[in-house]
Amino acid sequence: MAIQFDSATRDALFARIRYYRDLGLTEFYRRPVDPALLAQWTAGLEPHQNLNPGIPEPVSVNWEAASQPHPQPHSQEDQPIPPRKPLPTPPEIAAAIPPAGRAAALQLIRDEIGDCTRCPLHTGRNKLVFGDGDPAARLMFVGEGPGADEDAQGLPFVGKAGQLLNNMINAMGLKREQVYIANVVKCRPPGNRTPLPEEGGTCSPFLFRQIDVVRPQVLVALGATAATYLLGVRQPLAGLRGRVHAVRGTQLIVTYHPAYLLRDPRQKKEAWADLQIAMRELGLKPPTRS
Ligand code: SF4
Repeated sequence: MAIQFDSATRDALFARIRYYRDLGLTEFYRRPVDPALLAQWTAGLEPHQNLNPGIPEPVSVNWEAASQPHPQPHSQEDQPIPPRKPLPTPPEIAAAIPPAGRAAALQLIRDEIGDCTRCPLHTGRNKLVFGDGDPAARLMFVGEGPGADEDAQGLPFVGKAGQLLNNMINAMGLKREQVYIANVVKCRPPGNRTPLPEEGGTCSPFLFRQIDVVRPQVLVALGATAATYLLGVRQPLAGLRGRVHAVRGTQLIVTYHPAYLLRDPRQKKEAWADLQIAMRELGLKPPTRS
């Protein structure tokens, strides 16, 4: 049965369809969309043309490559897709900001985020989790997104995984207040699932701006989601660990997410090896036990 729409409804519907087409999604609907029909609907339209106000620009996804199985040895599946292009740094923070001005610069970013509704994650949010720590830290940790405890308190890594992260930081001879901690997404994904590409691609620019302000000497990506968005490539975690990457003018070390280490404590030794690379880059020595 043919359904008749008025022109405004039709335009809005087609805009939504184009949006998902640009995301690479053609099975969003109950049945796959006929490619010929999709081509007819979207003929003459520029790719990535976002005609739905309020809906963020989609990321570009090579779904064929993304769907290839990989030998990742643990359960951090459903990795997100990185943003389509490098994200610009606003002019006001493009130049190095003196340490004394970094707290204010971070506050500007927080103000810009505001009571954010840019992606669907805002609907389940109790508290937005912006970041925490020393705005001029030499070491910055990046996780995936808030969990239940973080969502309740508005601070990153305050649950059990946060306690383990604190222990990891202490083992490096540092205190939590000396580092900066943020996540790829600032609102809790339902059920702690991995952020969807739309969500991560929308929120991660704020993380990049935080990095540009803090300008840490070393970044540590906690888990595959953080590594994927920071590096802009989707690779198994095993292939990214054990070496130093260059990201946004700083050095990046990739290691396991503390939540994963809680599930599989045998990997703590591997994570410690990663942290020792970070310590080497920072010129840190492990604290001596008395
Ligand atoms: Fe906004 Fe980020 Fe929260 Fe999405 S996750 S609503 S982009 S702050």
